[in-house]
Amino acid sequence: MPKAASTLAACIAMALATPAQAEDWSLVIHGGAGTIQRDAMTPEKDAEIRAALDAALEAGSAVLREGGSSLDAVTAAINILEDDPNFNAGRGAVFTWDETNSLDASIMRGDTLAAGAVAGASTTRHPIDLARKVMEESPHVLLSGEGADQFAREQGLEQVDPSFFFTQERYDALVRFKAHAMQEQQTSQIDVDYKFGTVGAVAMDQSGVITAGTSTGGMTGKRWGRIGDSPIIGAGTYANASCGVSATGTGEIFIRLAVAYRICAGSAWAETPEPVASVREEAIAALMGEVNNQTKTNADLAINAVGELGGSGGVIFLSSDGAPGWSFDTPGMYRGSATSDGEKVVAIYGDEE
Ligand code: ASP
Repeated sequence: MPKAASTLAACIAMALATPAQAEDWSLVIHGGAGTIQRDAMTPEKDAEIRAALDAALEAGSAVLREGGSSLDAVTAAINILEDDPNFNAGRGAVFTWDETNSLDASIMRGDTLAAGAVAGASTTRHPIDLARKVMEESPHVLLSGEGADQFAREQGLEQVDPSFFFTQERYDALVRFKAHAMQEQQTSQIDVDYKFGTVGAVAMDQSGVITAGTSTGGMTGKRWGRIGDSPIIGAGTYANASCGVSATGTGEIFIRLAVAYRICAGSAWAETPEPVASVREEAIAALMGEVNNQTKTNADLAINAVGELGGSGGVIFLSSDGAPGWSFDTPGMYRGSATSDGEKVVAIYGDEE
């Protein structure tokens, strides 16, 4: 088939894909990935995690159902997970080598490419709210350390004593981590428990605006002010007009591969390929079908590339058809999704849908 004809045929085939309709909304969340296996989980813990994911989905869905913004939905969902000690964000943050909790978060809206992030906050209860304030109330994208908490105070965000973030389970994980590091005579290493409890959410509201956000305590035993991918726009979080991504996993590798940006940039690239610059409007609309399929492919490719560089983890994503998705290479990933169609999924292990 000549090239022009095959391009048109491909466009017609893609026209069968359904773009999101006005009033459609959708939400996808994660609570981290890692060695999460059925035989290592008690029924009580399993139920607790599912209830927390469900509560986060409900909080975000309530906003979207009422016609609220994807920005509000993402922060509402993440706030719930930040307050739950089961997740490595806010209240359940992991410990640094120095026995402190150092919180990272970021948020980005796809319609304007506005973004905000914070690294190393230690007294702000909800780091995702602080990332949002950085985006909305400062001329900056990324604030760090004491300055970030100072900005939070100036913005009237709730402050807590650092002991608020203490949980015995995370402290015990640090003790194990240090013992292992001593034994191996390593000055720094990646989490021995091989569990990432970072939380994230991506939402599309009824106006079609996509927002993505991520919040984390980082990695157990991190030192020297180490910062992972979660507060790095383009690595742990990214959104544009047609795609949003939030990641969890070996942060260093996600930064090196610019994972979140590259998943979305692949979609954006598919939106305006050169050969279709002059084709009819329907054909361009049809291309959105390719954008949506492309996002899933890009996510799988990205996770594969993370593995090739010695990392692991997962991503959640939404593309412009509103279809939520995820990709991960770990045995499990805390995850869930909800859409205006009434479909809701909560899952933990790799063998669930
Ligand atoms: N990606 C996070 C980091 O490297 C960790 C995680 O996902 O739990 O800081």
